Amino acid sequence: MRLTQLAHRRANLPEHAEIESLTADLAQVRDLLVAARTEESDTAREQTKAEQDVDQVRKRAARDQQRLDTGAVTSPRDLENLQKEIASLARRQSDLEDVVLEIMERRESAQERAAELARRVESVQARTDEAVARRDAALAGIDTEAASVTRERQAVAATIPEALLKLYDKLRGQQGGVGAARLYQRRCEGCRLELNITEVNEIRQAPADEVVRCENCRRILVRTPESGL
Ligand SMILES: [Zn+2]
Repeated sequence: MRLTQLAHRRANLPEHAEIESLTADLAQVRDLLVAARTEESDTAREQTKAEQDVDQVRKRAARDQQRLDTGAVTSPRDLENLQKEIASLARRQSDLEDVVLEIMERRESAQERAAELARRVESVQARTDEAVARRDAALAGIDTEAASVTRERQAVAATIPEALLKLYDKLRGQQGGVGAARLYQRRCEGCRLELNITEVNEIRQAPADEVVRCENCRRILVRTPESGL
């Protein structure tokens, strides 16, 4: 009975559910962190690419400006085209610089999110470790208690005939962990049923060392002065 209770306590420690829930949280927060870090590196690449675009436009505008300044272009039509291109490149550069700024903002917020999530991973991990330590301590306590119950039981078992012990173990398996019950005021304390007069008479006549059993639940009945026989 006590071993069954201990097994029940072992299986139903509140830490099991707590650890399960924390582990699920941890997996979720870690996934979010991976996503934030991926976005962080994606935006970093995007920023490099956008900055290269700006640079290209700037270089081309500088080349055009140089051609204009050196007076190499003389035809009015070519001059007009060149000036138009320089103006268009300036607009393009400004647009591309806006793109760079927008990417930088996204990168910054991804960095902030990643840092925040890293802190959360750390905190959930710490709570998980703490719950695991608590669970392990509780399990160790139950193990110690179970070992002591087993030792006590073995000491008692050494004094009980083997056949009776086997029967008791079999019944314990069949009857939810209780193989024997006290007979108390003609009632089986295992199934709570009152014995009828025939059963009481049979038990009354049975020798003290005979194993008597409940007709209803088949448990071994333990006779005591309060059995009502
Ligand atoms: Zn019974």
